[in-house]
Amino acid sequence: MRVVHGGMDGAVRVRSTRAQDGPDVTLDDAILAGLAPDGGLYLPVEVPELPPDWRASTSLADLARRVLAPWWGDDEDEIAPLLSEALDFEVPLRSLPHGRWLLELFHGPTLSFKDVGARTMARLAGRALARRGGEATVLVATSGDTGSAVADGFSGVPGVRVALLYPAGRVSDVQERQLIQARPGVRAFAVEGDFDACQRLVKGAFVDPRLADAGLTSANSINIGRLLPQMLYYLWAALLLEREHGRADAPYLVVPSGNLGNLTGGLLAAATGMPAAGFLAAHNANRFVPDLLSGRAAIGDAPATVATLSNAMDVGAPSNVERLWHWYGEGLRDRIDAVSVLDAPTLERMRITAAEDGVVVCPHTAVGLEGLARVRDLRPELAGVPAIVLATAHPAKFSASVLRATGREPPRAAALDASFRERTRVEPLPAEPAALREALLDDGWRA
Ligand SMILES: *Cc1c(COP(=O)(O)O)cnc(C)c1O
Repeated sequence: MRVVHGGMDGAVRVRSTRAQDGPDVTLDDAILAGLAPDGGLYLPVEVPELPPDWRASTSLADLARRVLAPWWGDDEDEIAPLLSEALDFEVPLRSLPHGRWLLELFHGPTLSFKDVGARTMARLAGRALARRGGEATVLVATSGDTGSAVADGFSGVPGVRVALLYPAGRVSDVQERQLIQARPGVRAFAVEGDFDACQRLVKGAFVDPRLADAGLTSANSINIGRLLPQMLYYLWAALLLEREHGRADAPYLVVPSGNLGNLTGGLLAAATGMPAAGFLAAHNANRFVPDLLSGRAAIGDAPATVATLSNAMDVGAPSNVERLWHWYGEGLRDRIDAVSVLDAPTLERMRITAAEDGVVVCPHTAVGLEGLARVRDLRPELAGVPAIVLATAHPAKFSASVLRATGREPPRAAALDASFRERTRVEPLPAEPAALREALLDDGWRA
């Protein structure tokens, strides 16, 4: 990946991690395809340098307009309305004692950072589809925050319908409520099986010849359309750190991680010129990345997923490792730090953060805070460096863990209370390929 200084001639082109010399495709095609035809992941061939005026941005949407427009070679005016519509919620930077800040990424409609990527990608995909013509069906297997963010993001985008598959009886009440909220153009299927069964159904549908004309596409975190908007809040955090907190020195960025889509967004931002003192991939018991960096695991290993309290990070073999390894190779070890935090110290960190800092955090965010404490112990040179921890979900989504850790219910979230008043719509689905095929071919979206 090459950084182009002083403006690109045209739009960014992307290439599969598994193709040496191309073919290169447009961002729009990559967003509509999800995965490259050779099974690889798309990475930009060259990227535009950050525009010099990015620190003058007045909102996340304004920043998005300045930073992302050159990626499409578009006029800012053309892409701006879509970005304003997608990024219409607050992303505040809250200060904690000891030179730490929390970037609150959970004020979107489904209360996790995934709203940023999913809402933006949905609108970019809708635009790409309108230009190309045709219709698309987004098929997603979900066990956590992805499904509701994608459903919310795509609902109402012309030409796009969404099918969500989740394991019946295996998601929390709050998660299910968010998934089955009735939304135009969205169908939720409660699959009689576990999450792996949902994933098998989705993978099978993509290669089913009888669904070849169904326009199936994916919206999971390997889609480059979700990674690009995830650069933005790192820049936004650096900007707020200077503007509101008077700290112009480069921050250390702590990222609660599962599939590493969030971290990849941060590394892209750094590649285009954002100053960063380093990155920490903070994982739960699913410790492939810490093991890879310390030499205890190797590329190609596929460890089984372990269930934890920070369930949105329960990924045994993160797909974005393929991107990062392709990009940096062995150099990845110098580029990022990684830690693994188990459930007991996660709960303890939630308790300490509530008691000493007066802030209630979700288990994912707590993994980040605990990871930071450990890295600071090991690396004294980080002592004076401002640390920004990405707060990835609203604590109200994880009230059972909050209650267990702190002895109290978390603060309520208006969006969540509202989702319990909304109409719901859900269809049971046997874990059979034929059942999913039938459902995708009928006209149930009109119902
Ligand atoms: C998805 C998710 C993560 C992990 O993000 P990745 O991009 O998969 O690394 C962390 N926290 C929350 C709350 C999430 O929903």
